[in-house]
Amino acid sequence: MPTDTKMKVHNFSAGPCILPQEVFQKAADAVLDFEGSGLSILEISHRSKPFEAVMLKSRELVKELLGAPAHYQTVFLGGGASMGFHLVPQNYMKPGGKGAYVNTGEWSTRAIKEAKLAGGAEVVASSEDKNFSYIPKGFTIPSDADYFHFTSNNTIFGTQFKQFPESPVPMICDMSSDIFSRPVNVKDFALIYAGAQKNMGPAGATMYLFDPATLGKTGKKLSPMMDLANHAAKDSMYNTPPVFPIYVIMLTLEWMKRIGGIAEIAKRNAAKAELMYGTIDRLPLFNGTTAKEDRSDMNPTFVLNDAALEPAFDAMWKEAGINGIRGHRSVGGYRASMYNALPLESVKALTEVMEEFAKKNG
Ligand SMILES: *Cc1c(COP(=O)(O)O)cnc(C)c1O
Repeated sequence: MPTDTKMKVHNFSAGPCILPQEVFQKAADAVLDFEGSGLSILEISHRSKPFEAVMLKSRELVKELLGAPAHYQTVFLGGGASMGFHLVPQNYMKPGGKGAYVNTGEWSTRAIKEAKLAGGAEVVASSEDKNFSYIPKGFTIPSDADYFHFTSNNTIFGTQFKQFPESPVPMICDMSSDIFSRPVNVKDFALIYAGAQKNMGPAGATMYLFDPATLGKTGKKLSPMMDLANHAAKDSMYNTPPVFPIYVIMLTLEWMKRIGGIAEIAKRNAAKAELMYGTIDRLPLFNGTTAKEDRSDMNPTFVLNDAALEPAFDAMWKEAGINGIRGHRSVGGYRASMYNALPLESVKALTEVMEEFAKKNG
């Protein structure tokens, strides 16, 4: 069991996932009494002054932590990152135009499907030939595309772009599973979007960070609910925003700032990844499932070479208070998601179990 008494379990869940323990505590307090108001965060108006301050703070902290240019804007919307797959062609694809996409897994595949429905998608590269176990490189992005879209971290298969592509057209990225995990040059992107439930907060809100100058260029008339410019013009309050998720996002962003921002978080994530992959590589019983140079710092995936040993291994990590390392149902094996809030201590606990298991079965 974890030594942090507030932490009951080592939670490697892929999303929704672990958040800082102090965020859970503050969120729980606010459900009963929001900032000493005598009211629950769940019952206050989104138009009340205290919540307007929460919204403003959350939007500003996103930009501050990522070092975004001053004119970029942030909104938080419902619908998940999957709604983002739809919003992207709505806001960026001209009639008769197309989006350029790299296909690195399930989430990219879904994004491509939405673009095809909206008009057109050109898949400029794909790693489907090897079950999405690597990141395609050296591809060309056509300059006649309306935009270029990719997924920075492949949550299910466990690969990650270590270097971002350079694009001749507005670059858009689904960063749902590695947002705030490492530095990003925001100015290189027209739009970055991310579901909150992996590195930012609970499920229920999706962040959109964009250069407003890249919007409104399609000549299309959009539904106001699909129109990012409309949401930004209304300060992310065109309709009732996901009040509680946004509050928890604010708490999580404040935590990130307090511990030293993205630089410190990236350092911690690198240490976790080094320990985890080092263990996978050292123990002949285990095998990583992705190309080494493309390994995700967020979602290491691995298998036991002898699948018959799985029940014994499963019993052992469960006994150690570890949760959520079974691989995605479409992949099998194991996936130890190590989002920002997961402490190194939890990775130590898992790797110790792996070492012990290898000793017994080696
Ligand atoms: C989880 C995830 C999604 C889907 O998010 P929803 O909020 O469930 O729509 C999309 N993209 C990536 C990279 C993800 O990890």
